[in-house]
Amino acid sequence: MPVTAKELIEILRDIYENISANKEYLTQLDSAIGDADHGINLTKGFKSVMEKIENMGDKDCGSILKTVGMTLVSTVGGASGPLYGTAFMRAGQVVAQKTSIDFEDYIKILEAALDGIKTRGKAEKGEKTIVDTLEPAIEEIKINKDKGKDIALELSLKAAEKGMEYTKEIIAKKGRASYLGERSIGHQDPGATSCYIILKTVADKILK
Ligand code: ADP
Ligand code: MG
Ligand code: MG
Repeated sequence: MPVTAKELIEILRDIYENISANKEYLTQLDSAIGDADHGINLTKGFKSVMEKIENMGDKDCGSILKTVGMTLVSTVGGASGPLYGTAFMRAGQVVAQKTSIDFEDYIKILEAALDGIKTRGKAEKGEKTIVDTLEPAIEEIKINKDKGKDIALELSLKAAEKGMEYTKEIIAKKGRASYLGERSIGHQDPGATSCYIILKTVADKILK
């Protein structure tokens, strides 16, 4: 850190590659409690994202993230498209006109992304969604930020993983999985899982 616009594009390419590598896994999780398309949806979305942002290395980070968000909204049909799309558009507003992103910016980006997802999806923690991974990750990064970014990021990622795993134990209250009611218990949420993959990808790159 700080992450330049070109490095931001590399991080987004890693996100695309890791989502794409987990396409079957995410889709399999969605087949248990949804309609078996989460991995397909996000792979398609991030593939379009890469086509759009590949040559934006001379643009500011805000414009890049805004383009990511708008592309996800317009190319991902499922619930996750507008949710992640809003998250990235809100992230873009945090670093509007900025040519690099520092650790403080990253925390603000995460907060804006979570706020966007919660506003758009009307979800709270404990409802078996993306929020169950993202919210604990942010809480932990804020609590530990004075210990330095490496420690804070590692603890944040652990909290994210715990939040993701906790979705196995709870009833889905939002999205398609909520139609299953109690039968959604025992299954890990696809969106909470893709969110963990995204956070881990970013942390791996920043920690390197
Ligand atoms: P769809 O359910 O339309 O097929 P996806 O399969 O791509 O869309 O995404 C499903 C994921 O979206 C769920 O696993 C859940 O994490 C997330 N999700 C669905 N509805 C909401 C919501 N209202 N708020 C937050 N996340 C949600
Ligand atoms: Mg689905
Ligand atoms: Mg769908």
